[in-house]
Amino acid sequence: MFENLSERLSGVFDRLTKQGSLSEEDVKTALREVRVALLEADVSLPVARDFVKTVQDKATGQAVTKSVTPGQQVVKIVHDALVDVLKGEAEPGALKVDNPPAPILMVGLQGGGKTTTTAKLAKRLKERDGKKVLMASLDVNRPAAMEQLAILGTQIGVDTLPIVKGENPVAIAKRAKTQAGLGGYDVYMLDTAGRLSIDEELMAQVEAVRDVANPRETLLVVDGLTGQDAVNTAQNFDDRIGITGVVLTRMDGDGRGGAALSMRAVTGKPIRFVGLGEKMDALETFEPERIAGRILGMGDIVALVEKAQETIEAEQAEKMMKRMAKGQFNMNDLRMQLEQMIKMGGMQGMMGMMPGMGKMAKQVESAGLDDSILKQQIALIQSMTKKERANPALLQASRKKRIAAGAGLEVSDLNRLMKMHRQMSDMMKKMGKMGKGGMLKQAMK
Ligand code: GDP
Repeated sequence: MFENLSERLSGVFDRLTKQGSLSEEDVKTALREVRVALLEADVSLPVARDFVKTVQDKATGQAVTKSVTPGQQVVKIVHDALVDVLKGEAEPGALKVDNPPAPILMVGLQGGGKTTTTAKLAKRLKERDGKKVLMASLDVNRPAAMEQLAILGTQIGVDTLPIVKGENPVAIAKRAKTQAGLGGYDVYMLDTAGRLSIDEELMAQVEAVRDVANPRETLLVVDGLTGQDAVNTAQNFDDRIGITGVVLTRMDGDGRGGAALSMRAVTGKPIRFVGLGEKMDALETFEPERIAGRILGMGDIVALVEKAQETIEAEQAEKMMKRMAKGQFNMNDLRMQLEQMIKMGGMQGMMGMMPGMGKMAKQVESAGLDDSILKQQIALIQSMTKKERANPALLQASRKKRIAAGAGLEVSDLNRLMKMHRQMSDMMKKMGKMGKGGMLKQAMK
């Protein structure tokens, strides 16, 4: 279902009229699809509606940048607006842990990844910030949960509060606080009990612990795959306990991250971290740009457009396009293309940015096809005479030998270059017919 999203969007974008600025009709057409995309990505309806309205006001009438299509321009505007909503005021990864021992309260439903995230965060605080951390499990209903935290603690080299049978959560919190003070800990983390759903007993318990610990940070851990449920959970916890941030787990799964947008829009609470797997290192600081890209499902087309805006000299490209459309793509043009590829981050960089091409970029890397190939090809072109560059049809056997030798390469290398030239000039002819910006449009498909 999701795979077709970028196709559908680019289909709409292709139909957008080509004019100097975005018309209301253009924007409306594109945004209808964006709204469906958001809903499919698990963004709640009121949030999607509000969001689209904001973008519509922003986009209508905006001038279209020269080297991109109106569709790409809309994507960029939508993307930037997503980032705006997702961004919190403060640095997401910066936890308030001054004034030792600083308490961090971890809350959430059972199975959301609370215990795992507690340990991941402890490891991060220890390794990145050089903090001495103590972890304590308050899950008295599930001895296995207390054991789990102790095992993880041993694994990451972080102390856990010794387990005392029959102690209640508030007593454990008090003991953790005392122990953290005596033991010279910078931070102590309280991993509260979870329930399968929100209930009064759970809330009352977490509240009591909060009052004892007076936490500097109260982080809610929620499963990012649960979409709207995650948002309701967050709202409930925030109303009752007051949270300072959210950790979205299982963002390594298939979910499209729409929960993040609803979460921000509905609760106003910042997303601080995302969990990306079961391993202790699989925790990252929340990055709005990345989630925005994921919600849109457009690969990093936005980055591609940005880079294109930076690197492509519009006039030069336009002239080239005109010649290409007429089938006059020569070695000088190819050389310019190759140089541009290097500028845009090389083959891997380019492919990594195109939707669906990420895997291929890895293959390119493992096959040893890197920028040195691009440079060799440029050297071959440099070794040609002016006439040969303008008219590659002249390249027969004896000329080929001379050119290859001149570049310190083999004739087979030159043959490869010529094959690529032929393929590209065919492609260019097609794309040239699609008009200005055709190349990028092709990349969006
Ligand atoms: P708790 O009940 O909230 O404490 O949940 P746990 O920490 O025990 O996690 C439940 C399961 O989810 C465990 O098997 C974890 O390994 C797994 N888990 C936690 N975070 C992530 C994550 O970010 N990605 C994936 N794939 N699994 C996770």
